[in-house]
Amino acid sequence: NAVVRFEDIHFAYIKERPILRGISFEIPAGKTVAIVGPSGAGKSTLSRLLFRFYEPQHGRILIDGQNISEVQQGSLRRAIGMVPQDTVLFNDTIGYNIRYGRWDASEQEIEEAARLAQIDGFINSLPEKFNTPVGERGLKLSGGEKQRVAIARTILKSPPILVLDEATSALDSFTEKEIQDALDRVSRDRTTLVIAHRLSTVVGADEIIVLDKGIIVERGSHNELLAES
Ligand code: ADP
Ligand code: ADP
Repeated sequence: NAVVRFEDIHFAYIKERPILRGISFEIPAGKTVAIVGPSGAGKSTLSRLLFRFYEPQHGRILIDGQNISEVQQGSLRRAIGMVPQDTVLFNDTIGYNIRYGRWDASEQEIEEAARLAQIDGFINSLPEKFNTPVGERGLKLSGGEKQRVAIARTILKSPPILVLDEATSALDSFTEKEIQDALDRVSRDRTTLVIAHRLSTVVGADEIIVLDKGIIVERGSHNELLAES
């Protein structure tokens, strides 16, 4: 299980406009740290730096003590799994979509991943069919169901580090609860960075970091942050 460390990260897309201004925190092995904050605070930028889409101008990011700028892009991709907020599915069965990138996986492994993500029963269905009107071919695959396909794919890939992007605002609260359960299940015992928009979705995180305009303005457990506000 991996330890992820952000050390005094400064980052700007455009030189005169700093986006992250001295961000330091650690995600201990198997723990979950959630980044919460208003839109534009720099949350997604932090996760992009972890994937090395950009290099910070100052500071470093370490995985198990190793600076990620010295790690091969390919091994970084394998080490980190991402559940994005919007999942685009390939035009093939749900099973294929879950298996994607893990071509050696057995049917049993796929079924188990689908079960954990609560998308079982759909494995042999085509997402296209779900998108045709109800009554012709069946159901429509909702945004939440698509996200659960992405969760199943991530469970199957089983990376030591997870990044969860929780923009569930567009989903109804019933779906949101189900997705939350599935995300909690996949992040258990895994080093996890959660990008969240609301404090209410990250109750189970070991630490919550509140980011605003590129700096950490508060940090603590869910209860500690509630007590302060
Ligand atoms: P959050 O995820 O907290 O909503 P982001 O990390 O997406 O915030 O964005 C932080 C700031 O960086 C915003 O002001 C946004 O406009 C800016 N930003 C994001 N991506 C880029 C980019 N590729 N080029 C320039 N500015 C960007
Ligand atoms: P160090 O003492 O680690 O060598 P530097 O001399 O590079 O650090 O920078 C001193 C301080 O200036 C840093 O701690 C940081 O707060 C700030 N700093 C460095 N680079 C940047 C940057 N690109 N944008 C904003 N602040 C920066």
